[in-house]
Amino acid sequence: MLESIAMINGDFVDVNDPVVTMEDRGYQFGDGVYEVTHVYNGRCFALQWHIDRLFRSLRELAIPGIYTPEEIVEFHQALLDKSGFKEGGIYLQITRGTAPRTHHFPEQVVPCLTMTMRPGDRTQGELMRDKGAKIITVPDIRWLRCDIKSLNLLGNVLGKQKAKEAGAYEAVQVRDNGTVTEGTSSNFYLVKDDVLWTHPTNNLILNGVTRRILMEKIAPSLGLHVVEKTFTMDFVKKTDEAFLTSTSMEIMPVVSIDREAVGDGTPGQVTRKIQAAYQALIQEECYR
Ligand code: PMP
Repeated sequence: MLESIAMINGDFVDVNDPVVTMEDRGYQFGDGVYEVTHVYNGRCFALQWHIDRLFRSLRELAIPGIYTPEEIVEFHQALLDKSGFKEGGIYLQITRGTAPRTHHFPEQVVPCLTMTMRPGDRTQGELMRDKGAKIITVPDIRWLRCDIKSLNLLGNVLGKQKAKEAGAYEAVQVRDNGTVTEGTSSNFYLVKDDVLWTHPTNNLILNGVTRRILMEKIAPSLGLHVVEKTFTMDFVKKTDEAFLTSTSMEIMPVVSIDREAVGDGTPGQVTRKIQAAYQALIQEECYR
């Protein structure tokens, strides 16, 4: 198995080197943000969209952006060049930096950028995307700024663990008022009477890059009508199709929720068309 390769503040390091200090605020408070970009054929897919979201997350948390978007692109390229990996993912994290522990922002603190590239292969994902995933629902216990891609992922971690223990692929989260928000590491959609339904982009969900690609490129090209409106499990139970999206899952059909079949229990036709359109975009950007 190929090892991950790693960088701190733009310099290569061994992924196991203890380069981050104990008083890094990411370590103590989860005070930082991250991004994950998928690599196909040795190229990053949708990198600019990820960088745009990274800078938004930094702004929302008032973490100074000490690298330019161009430098962030260069660091991704350096990882690709050095590793030679053709398939995998690049994880990027920026914390507020290291300072004696205190809740409020320290006066003089320099953000810390770490990046890793891990090789991966798509076979498992392909199999799952073909047959569809079984998912469960869990209470959405997360904070009220899920729009920021922050390191505070405990709610998501606990939800995903429940899915694993239930033998499910993902857990979709439901707020106290019954609103179905998103997966623990994915956005969630329904297709009913040929209309695509999903939670609106507000503070309760992450505006996924895959979601944006679906909304801004794929839905218009397929002539799909989109409704960005909240819904409850009563509505989910009547859906024809359901699916999830994320950078690593891509477009993942959902075939059962809480052990009840979605539609006829196989991936839906509209979901299949969206999958094909997404693959075409990957081809165009990374294989041409
Ligand atoms: N929601 C959550 C909570 C996530 O963690 C992710 C994955 N980062 C997504 C949605 C999907 O985002 P993207 O399409 O940018 O991977």
